[in-house]
Amino acid sequence: MSAEMQNYIDEAEQALLHTYNRYQVVFDRGDGVYLYDMDGKKYLDFVSGIAVFALGYHHKAYNDALKAQIDKIIHTSNYYYNAPAIEAAKKLKKISGMDRVFFTNSGAEAIEGAIKTARKYGFLKDGRTDHEIIAMNHSFHGRTMGALSVTGNPHYRDAFEPMIGNIRFANLNDFDSVMAQVTDKTCAILFETVQGEGGIHPATEEFMKKVRALCDERDILMMLDEIQCGMGRTGTMFAWQRFGVKPDVMTTAKALGCGVPVGAFLMTEKVGKNSLAAGDHGTTYGGNPLACAAICKVIELFEEQDVLANVNKVGAYLEKRLDELVAAFSCVETRRGVGLLQGLVFDRPVGDIIKAALGRGLVLINAGTSIIRFVPPLVITKEHVDDMITILRESIMETEGEQK
Ligand SMILES: *Cc1c(COP(=O)(O)O)cnc(C)c1O
Repeated sequence: MSAEMQNYIDEAEQALLHTYNRYQVVFDRGDGVYLYDMDGKKYLDFVSGIAVFALGYHHKAYNDALKAQIDKIIHTSNYYYNAPAIEAAKKLKKISGMDRVFFTNSGAEAIEGAIKTARKYGFLKDGRTDHEIIAMNHSFHGRTMGALSVTGNPHYRDAFEPMIGNIRFANLNDFDSVMAQVTDKTCAILFETVQGEGGIHPATEEFMKKVRALCDERDILMMLDEIQCGMGRTGTMFAWQRFGVKPDVMTTAKALGCGVPVGAFLMTEKVGKNSLAAGDHGTTYGGNPLACAAICKVIELFEEQDVLANVNKVGAYLEKRLDELVAAFSCVETRRGVGLLQGLVFDRPVGDIIKAALGRGLVLINAGTSIIRFVPPLVITKEHVDDMITILRESIMETEGEQK
């Protein structure tokens, strides 16, 4: 590492709050599926800023659209209309089949909005303020107090108690555990269609359908967090679209703006009419013209480049190549995932493997201590997968992972 890069890292440790144990690299620019550090070293990127930069870096049409919007207007208040937000909302409705959109600045804020929607929906039904939300163990919904309150992982929560009240926890894909938490006060059931941070656990079709039926029967809102698994990552625009069931409320963020900080929560017309009304919710930045110009371009490019077809093709290939590692190494226990959202489960902590890969020019990330997560740009090719597998194999062997 150059003295210059080391110096930046040292300065970062003096200035930034130490809420991350950062890898020892300063990324400087990106091009396609590659990142370059300050010293000019090239890295194959299988993280894409954690499922964000779906279209690859330095995408000309995307960059041009943002530059054009910057020259027109970056921000106006939500008290006025602006064309990019209207276009973005129309496009988002079309790809999701939902009816109403509220733009936020992040995933956690989209979750906050979904929680408020559920509580208001319950309140309008019976005037009570003791409604309950059922969330899942091992879930992750973000770091703000409301989002933490529905995150089923004590590790993130313990130091910040008390959480907001009336949240109950069940287990993903265990419908009986959900039933055990349902009361006459339940107003919503919230889960990620594929749990991301919690270890890449996809919801099963059976679970999705049973929850949908329960929600219909009891007038409970089915709320799906698609912040990580949505926007094409599993081969459909939103992961729930594989199952023939539709949520009442859903959240999206991460790849929605491909790098511009933006999220959204969406709902059906029925929920829109019976929940948040004028004065109930707001945001200064959410859905500003710059962020929405990004969303518009992202959705356009997804269609133009047929990103979903690529995810289905390369996702299947990635699965196959990862399964080979499960067969080859005794320390690799299993693979889980859908499309280009995959996890490789090890019998040991994966930190050293990820560091070894970084040294060899491959960017990977964990999900929990013993799982390597694969969330590459959605435009990767089979050749990129092959290159990744080669480096990953070397990195496993370097850290004394024995071949079977
Ligand atoms: C990342 C993530 C969030 C939080 O999004 P932020 O933009 O970091 O606030 C919420 N839910 C899921 C499933 C996520 O992966």
